[in-house]
Amino acid sequence: MPAIAMTHSLDDYLKLNISRYREQLRQGNAQSIEFNYSYRSSSYQYSIQLSKTSCNYGGHRYWWLCPKCHKRTSTLYCAGLYVCRHCIGANYGSQLQQPIDRIFNRLNTLRSKLGWQRGAIHGIGSRPKGMHHSTYIKLVNEYDKLSADVWQASLDKLGCTR
Ligand SMILES: [Zn+2]
Repeated sequence: MPAIAMTHSLDDYLKLNISRYREQLRQGNAQSIEFNYSYRSSSYQYSIQLSKTSCNYGGHRYWWLCPKCHKRTSTLYCAGLYVCRHCIGANYGSQLQQPIDRIFNRLNTLRSKLGWQRGAIHGIGSRPKGMHHSTYIKLVNEYDKLSADVWQASLDKLGCTR
């Protein structure tokens, strides 16, 4: 087991999410995507195979087939070659969950500061009495940005093309 596995999180790697190719893949019936890049002064040229599955509610979604183990995955990580999270050997178990949980925790912390009821479902409240306007704007801006992140993460999870 390389040392990299325990000391790095998946966030340290360049990511390649299939959703980035959604528009391109919608055009045709691609079986693979060609890659040609340099990484740490080595050049890489190869194609990554794709797999296509149907969605329950119509349309379909594409997956990468990991160039190393050929398992289906929506995200590849750059270790020279792009490979799946299993092949990169990162200790990903909790890390994949953490970012979004962390965002939700932060959202709730912001809601408390703003005196809003906890839980995004309650929507945006108003400026609490006695809070400085600039403080309020700062908190609301952060709140908006984090909400957008959560929304994007949910979209990535669905990842369907129609
Ligand atoms: Zn793999």
